[in-house]
Amino acid sequence: MADLGNLSNTLKVLEKYNFNFQKKYGQNFLIDSNILESIADKAGITKDDCVLEIGPGIGTMTQYLCEKARFVIAVEIDKNLIPILNDTLSEYDNKTIINKDVLKVDINALCDEYNGGKPIKVVANLPYYITTPIIMGLFESHVPLDSITVMVQKEVADRMKVGPGTKDYGALSLAVQYYAHPETVLNVSANCFIPKPNVDSAVIKLTLHKDNPVSVRDEALMFALIRAAFNQRRKTLVNSISNAGLQGIAKENVVNALEKMELPQTIRGEALTLEQFARLSDLVK
Ligand code: SAM
Repeated sequence: MADLGNLSNTLKVLEKYNFNFQKKYGQNFLIDSNILESIADKAGITKDDCVLEIGPGIGTMTQYLCEKARFVIAVEIDKNLIPILNDTLSEYDNKTIINKDVLKVDINALCDEYNGGKPIKVVANLPYYITTPIIMGLFESHVPLDSITVMVQKEVADRMKVGPGTKDYGALSLAVQYYAHPETVLNVSANCFIPKPNVDSAVIKLTLHKDNPVSVRDEALMFALIRAAFNQRRKTLVNSISNAGLQGIAKENVVNALEKMELPQTIRGEALTLEQFARLSDLVK
């Protein structure tokens, strides 16, 4: 099958199958072989790797991944793309195509089945409407991961890297930085996609930490506090956490914890670092 990393080959496939783009699935297909080559390169894929690709589309990036990896698991929600993928990837026997919503797939079970439970690499041109749930889902379900190299909206890539004191700092920044080291590895022009998206894009690589950068007794509680703090980010931390109604966490717990941390009672969550959220979580428990 011809390389799909160019417009004319992609158009031929779309025409052959009379494919209609579905906006609701965030379908913007890559049509630039340099970008595709670069993504596979930055992801550092070798013949030892099992790769999970989320949203293979017509198989453009999947072709590159199948060439470089030992095995590729491709999860695609759109049933109209499955016959196309069976065609465009017919020459590769080191792949499986799963027609499901990635948010409903047991990825841990796939890792067990196809990689003996060892860490996988995730590589994708993500559907932008569900970037955050996909990334949070991978982290929170403790999928064995080596790295996640994904195309996202540029402003989301920026959000993953910032710290306190910036307007983009939020629950996503803290979760990403707790689990991984984020690095923007490519900026990608809207002209590299069909149809052309109306946002700028970037490829971000999240390399999982070997050891978590902060120690916390109850990770789930820390993230519940973080979510509460940013759900009402204009309120003080004391109020946003008390309003969240977290079981066993009363207003006095937060007041006392802030006192011990020598932080003002008027402080907002957006001013706290990851280390401070970890300490707060240990103190309120
Ligand atoms: N990988 C292809 C490429 O780079 O050309 C397509 C990328 S396109 C931005 C996103 C893909 O994700 C589409 O194929 C879309 O149908 C698929 N998708 C959207 N929502 C999904 C979901 N919940 N689970 C799995 N795939 C999904």
